[in-house]
Amino acid sequence: MSVLVTGCTGFIAQYIVRDLLQQNYKVIGTVRSDAKGDNLKNLFNNNPSFVTEVVADIAAPSAFDHVFEKYSDEIKVVLHTASPFHFNAKDYEKELLIPAIHGTKSVLESIKKYSAQTVERVVITSSIAAVKDPLKSADKNFVYDEDSWNPVTWESCQLNPQDAYRGSKKFAEQVAWDFLEENKGVLKYKMATVNPSMIFGPQLFDQNATGVLNTSAEVINSLLHSGPETDLSNLKNDFVDVRDVSRAHLLAFQMDETVGQRLGLSAGQFNGQDIAQILNERFPQAQGTLPKVTGEGANKTEPYAKFDNSRTKKILGFDFKSLEETVYDTAAQILKVEGKV
Ligand code: NDP
Repeated sequence: MSVLVTGCTGFIAQYIVRDLLQQNYKVIGTVRSDAKGDNLKNLFNNNPSFVTEVVADIAAPSAFDHVFEKYSDEIKVVLHTASPFHFNAKDYEKELLIPAIHGTKSVLESIKKYSAQTVERVVITSSIAAVKDPLKSADKNFVYDEDSWNPVTWESCQLNPQDAYRGSKKFAEQVAWDFLEENKGVLKYKMATVNPSMIFGPQLFDQNATGVLNTSAEVINSLLHSGPETDLSNLKNDFVDVRDVSRAHLLAFQMDETVGQRLGLSAGQFNGQDIAQILNERFPQAQGTLPKVTGEGANKTEPYAKFDNSRTKKILGFDFKSLEETVYDTAAQILKVEGKV
């Protein structure tokens, strides 16, 4: 059975490809260029069950048509992970909102056009960013869950890259649910979304653990090199490990219980002090470049708005990795590649 993974060069998607191959699926991955596809196939030892197709820009009209035309009967599952995730955008519509929204619409339109009766399951990689209201973060009595949506509007999300990213994930996810509803009689597939919080964990391949990393892993990378005077006060969030995120993507299409669900992935809350503590305790050899611990971790300070994802945890039925494990593994790989451990 073939699974289409969009954006398969990404931090999360590489793990998804690995896990799918380990479970004997055939994987068709979309990449932005042949060179990126060849590099990734090499890293997977040119496994014959893994092929790539070029989709240079998911925002382009009919971006996925050629892929579904070629594999129309073969693709049974679609995992749509490709979407811009960075805060460097200057033109928020062009760089974040349009690719996220058009990319999602485009892959679903292609399913409808070529594989309406053969694709059985679709999983959209959304985000906690589509769920969480940033204005409520400091309210310790506020609880949000898998039914919550961030309140950003098209206008309000144009103020800064963070809000634009929140908008991109919310509007793209809504497009997917709306498309399913509008085409109920025509489409066979059932859908779930995966809504992870900030994802840490090692890169699947050491060669990617150098330079500037993907946006979420870069948080740990930059702290590893930030020095003792770093201000950690703004760093607080929920977290989850990339290996758990990949596992959830597979269960999202393999289980009946996930149909129609938004799977909220969080292993708990952390703040900058928690990370500084782990780095200082576990990597004494890197002291000097690490941030100093100057306060208490998230468990001991005033809590902030809580993400209640008990429904998701019950459905998925596995324990998420701890902050200690995910931070340690992320940092250990970077320091190994730098020749420091
Ligand atoms: P990466 O940046 O590592 O991966 C993103 C992937 O999408 C890459 O393969 C990238 O290709 C591709 N892509 C981006 N824009 C386009 C485009 N316009 N056309 C074609 N391909 C494109 O990010 P992650 O793996 O971290 O994120 C993957 C998904 O998970 C995203 O949807 C993100 O919003 C979501 N997510 C991530 C979280 C995190 O903390 N990492 C948390 C919650 C959700 P290329 O590399 O070639 O540019």
